[in-house]
Amino acid sequence: MKRLYLIGYPLGHSVSPAMQNAALAACGLRDLYYDKLSLPPERIREVLAVLRAPECAGANVTIPYKEKLLPYMDELSDAAREIGAINTIVRRDGRLIGDNTDAFGFLQALIVNGFSPAGKRTVILGAGGAARAAAWALGTAGVTHVELVNRTPSRAQALAQQVQARFPTLAVEIDRIQAAVEANLIVNATPVGMWPHVDASPLSSRALIRPGGTVFDLVYNPRKTRLLSDAINCGAHAIDGLDMLIYQGARAFEMWTGRTAPIEVMRRAAEAALTAGHIGGD
Ligand code: NAP
Repeated sequence: MKRLYLIGYPLGHSVSPAMQNAALAACGLRDLYYDKLSLPPERIREVLAVLRAPECAGANVTIPYKEKLLPYMDELSDAAREIGAINTIVRRDGRLIGDNTDAFGFLQALIVNGFSPAGKRTVILGAGGAARAAAWALGTAGVTHVELVNRTPSRAQALAQQVQARFPTLAVEIDRIQAAVEANLIVNATPVGMWPHVDASPLSSRALIRPGGTVFDLVYNPRKTRLLSDAINCGAHAIDGLDMLIYQGARAFEMWTGRTAPIEVMRRAAEAALTAGHIGGD
């Protein structure tokens, strides 16, 4: 039996084990099992020992390890190197390969929901790991303008510099929340609005939402956040975080197994896990 892990601390409830084990079972991959590994960051040596053990086939990585484990990889994908964070590890011939499938999941979620980023103006709320993946994905997909708005402005500034260096023709600005009114796409990459704080919105006023625009909330519990309710009431198109969760997981599954991910199986398992428990974020 080989193992895949979800590495993070604290982990609590998570959708990923149910989603990945359902996918493994549907594909008849009985020699693989997806488990949780929750150790505090001061025990990172033990995490590395698990990753290097013969039975380990790979892992997903979540807070606080997305950046902490990156320097220990034997190889990095372009996405992981340029975003500066990993959420997936593939173990191949004893080597640890770090990747970032959040960017893929983010773009795929936009595409399956009918939003085409090329030539569009965007606002990203947040400057953490998810915001970095979203900004990188939008840069690769040809948006013309990214506005970065964050509680701690210095982090938005640092991300802006990183994005501008990678995408020199992209217009990158920071902290003009008014830019939301002109944006084709607003992305919430903060946990604001996540259960149990379901009455909170990361936007100070719903007047900032452009009718006919798109609002993508990366939070998936609840599916319909206060921000997305406001978006619908303003005549905007609302995308919740579940598709991104499914597609980032599907991409990781395909890298570990070489098999096509059973998307609908993963979706049903994720929805059932969300219904069963109060789940935070991966
Ligand atoms: P992170 O690295 O910890 O970054 C969190 C960001 O949110 C930071 O910019 C932080 O601002 C900001 N923030 C946190 N609390 C805030 C508050 N009360 N008010 C305003 N801003 C606040 O987390 P992450 O990994 O980027 O995740 C962010 C969200 O995306 C989470 O809800 C997570 O569940 C979700 N996510 C979803 C998926 C998916 O597949 N759907 C994938 C990844 C992440 P400061 O810089 O000021 O601290």
